[in-house]
Order: sequence, then C-alpha cells, then structure tokens
Amino acid sequence: MKIDNYHSEKCKLDELLSSHFFNCIPEACVMLDPWFYIVKMNSQAEEFFLLPQEYLMSKPFWEIAPQYINTNIFHAMYKIKNDRQNTSLEFCGSITNRWFEANLCMIDKYIVVFFKNITHHKHTQNELLRAQERLSAVFHNSHALMAIVNQDNNQFVSVNDSFADFFGYSANEIIGKTKEDIFETLNNQFFPPQIPEDYDNNSFSKLISVKSKSSDSSKHIIITSELININEKPCRLEIGIDITDNLRCQKELRRLEHLNLLGQMSASIAHEIRNPLQTVKGFLQLLQFKEGISPYQTHFNLMIDELNRANQIITELLCLSRTKPTNLKMHTINDIINSVLPLIEAQALAEDKIIMVEQMPVSPTLLDEDEIKQVLLNIVKNALEATKSKGCVKIISESNQTSVKLIICDNGQGIPPELQDNIGMPFFTTKQNGTGLGLPMSLSILERHNAKLDFISDKNGTSFIIIFPIVA
Ligand code: ADP
Ligand code: MG
Repeated sequence: MKIDNYHSEKCKLDELLSSHFFNCIPEACVMLDPWFYIVKMNSQAEEFFLLPQEYLMSKPFWEIAPQYINTNIFHAMYKIKNDRQNTSLEFCGSITNRWFEANLCMIDKYIVVFFKNITHHKHTQNELLRAQERLSAVFHNSHALMAIVNQDNNQFVSVNDSFADFFGYSANEIIGKTKEDIFETLNNQFFPPQIPEDYDNNSFSKLISVKSKSSDSSKHIIITSELININEKPCRLEIGIDITDNLRCQKELRRLEHLNLLGQMSASIAHEIRNPLQTVKGFLQLLQFKEGISPYQTHFNLMIDELNRANQIITELLCLSRTKPTNLKMHTINDIINSVLPLIEAQALAEDKIIMVEQMPVSPTLLDEDEIKQVLLNIVKNALEATKSKGCVKIISESNQTSVKLIICDNGQGIPPELQDNIGMPFFTTKQNGTGLGLPMSLSILERHNAKLDFISDKNGTSFIIIFPIVA
C-alpha cells in the first residue's frame, strides 16, 4: 500500500514538474512525435503559432505551419530525427516577419524545439549594420582626411582616399605603415602613441604642420583625434582638415590690407615730403662747395646720402600704391637680366662676391621693363646682403610651354623659419638700415604682371623663384 502511494505521489510530482517546468521556460517550446504531431507545448508556444493550445495539440506541425515546409527549419527537423544531433538555426516567419532562433534536441523519440523571438535583436543588428555601412560611406567619401590608427603599434589600420591622395600614396601603400614612414611632422606630434596630458573625453584637436615625403612644401592641418574600439582593439580615429589655403589667404589678406593702407597714405604724402627734401638737398649741394666748407665735406656727403635714402623710400612707397603696369611690352626676361647685369656685377665686385648667370632660351612675355628691372635689383640686392664675402648669387632663367621662371639663389645665411611668415610684409626688415619695402614692392609689381613669387630657404641659402605666365 505504502509503495503504491509512493508511486502515485511520484507520478503526480513528475507530471506537475514537467508541466510546470515546461511553462516556466521563457521560450516557446513544442514537443513533436516522430510524425511531427504536437504532443506537448507550453503556453509561450501559443504566441509563436498565434493560435490557442487547445487547437494546436495533437495536430501535425506542418498542418499548422505549412509555410515552413521546405524551409531551413523543416530540413533541420528531419535531420535531427535521423542523426539526433542537437542543432540551432535562425529563421524569419514568412507571414509575420518575425525572426526566431530555434534550438532543436531529441528526448527519447520526441523532437523538442525551443523558439526564441529575436526580432528586436535582429532589427538592432540590422540597424547596427546599416549604421556601420553609413559610417564607412562617410569615411571613404569624405573630403576630410581620415585615418584609423592602431593605438598599440601606431600603424595605420585604414585610411580614406582623401588622406592617401593628400600624402601622395595609395591607401594600400599606407596601411600597415606608421606616420614616420609617410610624413614628417614639423611642429607637433601626430597620432600620438600616448594620450596627451590635456586629453579630455577621449578626443582632442590641434593644429599641426606636416610635410609629406613626396613633396617639399609643408601643409597645415587641424587634426581631431578620437579614441575608438575596433574589434576590441584600441584605435584612434584621426580626422584632418587641410587649412593651408585658408592660412595662406588670411596672410595674403593681411598683406593686402597693409598694402591698401600704405597705398592710400603714400600717394597723399609722398609728394609733400619729396618737395622739401629736394629743396634741402639742392641747398646742401650748393653750400657743399662754398669756401670754408671743405672741412665739413664728409658731413655734407652724409647728409646728401641720407636725403637720397629718404627719397628712395618715397619712390618705393609710390611704386607700391600703383595698381596697373604702366608700360607692358613683349620682352624676354634674359634681355632684362642682361641690361642690369653690369650694375649687379659692379656691386658684387665691390663687395667681393660672385655673380653667376645661367640663361636658357626663354619665350618673350608681357613685361614692364623698368618695373621688372626693379624687382630683379631688389631681390639680387637682398641676396648679396645675405651672403658673406666670397659668397655667390646665381641668376637662372628657364622656360616651358606655359611659363618663364626667374630664380635668384644665394648661399647666404638663409631666412630663419620663424621669420619666413613675415616675408613680403611691408616694413618687415632684419637690417639696421633696411626699409622692409623691397619685397613688398616687388610683390606688388609681380602681382600686376600676374606673376608669382615664392621662396625656399634654409641655413645653406635662399632661392627666390618668380614665375611669369606666357600669354598665348
Ligand atoms: P630690406 O632689404 O630693406 O630689409 P626687403 O623687403 O627687401 O627689405 O627684405 C625684407 C627682409 O627679408 C630682409 O630684411 C631679410 O631679413 C629678408 N630677406 C630677404 N631676402 C633674403 C635673402 N636672400 N636671404 C636672407 N634673408 C632675406
Ligand atoms: Mg631689400
């Protein structure tokens, strides 16, 4: 009797546990016999079939869900029936568009399938994928320079086309390299392997100057660096904006503003000053040869020299204020070089310096002869002033289809990098008796000729390069 009781109690408990456990499983669960008839299911399965349990029980699975015949879940059920290997798969409800993960196992001869609704997870995953695609499109199509750098070894993981073009390489040539292989930083550390001290909120911005290995000129970029994780690896997303042209324009604008102001001032006061100067100079020249004055001869010469210098400054100022070349004619730059060469050579000889000329045949261009002579004299004068005794100044002319180049190089002291930004600014001079007007005046003349003036300078010397366009 006791044993019978025990057995019936155990059966009751088993029954209770199995139905209770079945309903406690958070996923929908169905148990199918070998002919795919539903023999047991939990209440969550109603949600999967969207039908009540009473209707579903004892029905064949494929009658209730014919839409799944010949789909991956159909094949999985047949497979597990034969090989009894637990398996799992994902599938999409063809009517409701809900996504499920199905886990299949065998208990005795029964097939047990757990269905987990993963629609939300799938949507999030798709959203993530789409966001990644959008990000990738932004990364690769952006005009900004973009690079992803491995924080541990400082190697480029990915760069966009703008970045690769900017440094003159293909993206594949850059990936796997470090910044030292690709470019040189002039004023700051780029892509720092260590996070800087002022680093805040995983990102920072700064202005840096870089020089690519493939070109001579330096570029200025504002770089923003952001710490990101890619496949669990700490990386940096570096976004650079090239502001070289902006800075150049700002500088040019400042120079033009200065010039404009100077032009207005010089035009109005130059004549007023020149007249009294001429009068004083005239009387000095007259008095110079009077009786009893000879002991003061050197003083008189000094006074006249100083007046000449003042007159020179006024002439240069007046030249700055002019806006149109006065006398444009076809000339070759070689003719102009040759016409001022005796003057230049005499000056060089007096200072014990050497002038070398390398003239290639050049095409004639529209030039104002007097003005270009003035430019040549100004630049050669600066070059001679920058060189020591026995120093050398070279004047080179060359031409191609579209332009004529005039280069004046010296092996003088060079222009210190920190002063190079001031070159061309009115009144910028490093000389005790300098006016700081020679180069602004030359720039003003060259601008009127649509010509460009550039320079390269280091401690071994300076080259000023003038490019005149050839007008067809
Ligand atoms: P100035 O000759 O009266 O000083 P410029 O406008 O001709 O005025 O030149 C401005 C400054 O540019 C010079 O004072 C000098 O510092 C610098 N400079 C120009 N040319 C050279 C050169 N070839 N080598 C070194 N420095 C130069
Ligand atoms: Mg000068």
